[in-house]
Amino acid sequence: MRLVFLGPPGVGKGTQAEDISLKEDIPHISSGNLLREDVEAKTEIGLKAKAYIEKGLLVPDELVVKIVVGKITTEYCKNGFILDGFPRNLSQAKILDETLNELGEKIDKVFYFTATEDIIIKRLAGRRICKSCGANYHETFMPPAKIMVCDKCGSELYQRKDDNPKTISERLRVYREQTEELIDYYKNNSELAEINCNGNISEIHKKIFKEFHSQSRDEREME
Ligand code: AMP
Repeated sequence: MRLVFLGPPGVGKGTQAEDISLKEDIPHISSGNLLREDVEAKTEIGLKAKAYIEKGLLVPDELVVKIVVGKITTEYCKNGFILDGFPRNLSQAKILDETLNELGEKIDKVFYFTATEDIIIKRLAGRRICKSCGANYHETFMPPAKIMVCDKCGSELYQRKDDNPKTISERLRVYREQTEELIDYYKNNSELAEINCNGNISEIHKKIFKEFHSQSRDEREME
C-alpha cells in the first residue's frame, strides 16, 4: 500500500500514521521528521532547512524531494509506505507521481484529515514529544503519567520550537496557500478518503481502519 496522509499541521496525521504503520507493518515516512533529523545531525540539507522550519515556511522543494524520494525508493519501502507531510505543494505531488510512475507504481489512496482551526491550534500548542522515542503527547488531551516524562521509555519530553503561536499561524497560512490545492489534485488523480478528526483518537482510529480495509476503487472496478 502506498498511502499519502494529507491535512493541516496539528490535525493528528503523524499520530495516526504511526499507529497504522505499527499495526499494518508499513513504513511511516514523515518529511518533517526526516528534516528534523538532518537539522539535528547538521547535514548540508539540515543546515539549509533549519531557518525555513523555524519560520514555519516550506523548505525548498529540491531539498525535501531529495530526502523523501531517496527514502521511498529504498528496499525499506519496496512494499509500500505512508507519506506524512509530503507532498505539500503541487510540484512535489507531480514529482512523487513521476517517481512512482517510473517504478511502475502509484499512490493507492490519499487520506485527507480535517479538523476545525481552533482544535488544530489547541493540539499544536499543547503537543509534547519524547526526545528519545518520538512518542507524542498532549499536555491536556493526552498527558503522560509524570509531567514531561515519556510513559513508554522514561525519557524527557520537549515542545517543538515551531509549535509556538506565531509559527503555528504561519504554518496554517502556508498550508492554506500551498498545500490545500492538493485536495483537488488528488480528488482528480487518485482515491481520496476524508477523515474528520474533530473527535477523540480512538474514534479517529476506527474511521481510518474502516477506510484502510475497505475495497480500493481498482478492486471494485475489477469485480
Ligand atoms: P511537520 O513535521 O510535517 O509539521 O513539518 C515541519 C516543518 O518541516 C514544516 O513546517 C516545513 O518547514 C518542513 N517540511 C516538512 N515537510 C515538508 C515538505 N514536504 N515540503 C517543504 N517543507 C516541509
